[in-house]
Amino acid sequence: MPLSAVKCQERAVSALESALARGHVHHAWLFQGPEGVGKELAAVGLAQALCCTEQPNVGCGACASCRRVEKRNHPDVTLVMPEDEQVQRGLAGRSDFERTPSRDIRIEQIRQLQERLAFRALESKTKVAILVAAHAMNASAQNALLKTLEEPPAGTVLILVSSAPEKLLPTIRSRCSKASFGPLPVAFLTEHIKQHKKGVDDVTAAQAATMAGGSLSRALDFDVDGLAERRDIIERFEALAPGDARGWLALAETLAEDRASAELALDVLQVWLRDVGCARVPGAALVNADLEPLAVSAAGRVSAAGLARRAVLIDEARNAITQRNGAARLQLERMFIEMFAA
Ligand SMILES: [Zn+2]
Repeated sequence: MPLSAVKCQERAVSALESALARGHVHHAWLFQGPEGVGKELAAVGLAQALCCTEQPNVGCGACASCRRVEKRNHPDVTLVMPEDEQVQRGLAGRSDFERTPSRDIRIEQIRQLQERLAFRALESKTKVAILVAAHAMNASAQNALLKTLEEPPAGTVLILVSSAPEKLLPTIRSRCSKASFGPLPVAFLTEHIKQHKKGVDDVTAAQAATMAGGSLSRALDFDVDGLAERRDIIERFEALAPGDARGWLALAETLAEDRASAELALDVLQVWLRDVGCARVPGAALVNADLEPLAVSAAGRVSAAGLARRAVLIDEARNAITQRNGAARLQLERMFIEMFAA
């Protein structure tokens, strides 16, 4: 996929295209931005442009060279990623590693890369290295890479792809040209979901797109069948009454069947609260368009400050579950008590 096919990232893509057009591509790049918004696609696109035999510095996407870059088997393009990422992508099996596949990019991998970069390019003018999840480099790997960034071998372009660039050493970041990738627009994600998930209805697609926080990979990861239960989740939530502890606890138990369903329910409720906020404004478009009457009546029952507080409580519960490994049911119970206890 050539650079020109990377969607909705005009700023980053045009920066790369103009560097290519000037024939002066910096030797080190940091592609930064959220997960699943096209950073790695753009890195592959840049590698194609640098290796393309038909349209040098543009990338045709169709010549033998471009196709090999796309298939990740061009001899002058090296991909580096943590072992567990290789396993997740099906590029390696667990048995290929002597120990548990590492979540870090290890110093040995950087040394191997450096050995490869020390040789001349085999087919192209430029050798390209793409470091997927560059922030996964541990401290010694980062220090080793720093040497390459300081004294790059001739004809080398390194592309560090990262959704957490703050985990990279400042000395690494400062040596890279930066291309920043933003969240993808909801309308784009909605269309993409409708194309890739057969039989999904418009509201569910819009709901998944809104919950995805601008990330295509997250949008496509959503369990569409689980989302079909969003109406039920929302209606039961709105039926909760202050003081009805039995009602809250029962809903917490249903929603927290497992961790994934609890997270999904919290995401659904977060979007719903936004809809309730929007319902105060006549004519505003709601994600849960089919539940507009309920959103309007809910908006009449809770103040703006009350809504904001609920949104914070949902965030806190979600963080406790995902980041601190909290028990899902307990967190939901606590959340409902904070929301509804007088
Ligand atoms: Zn080409």
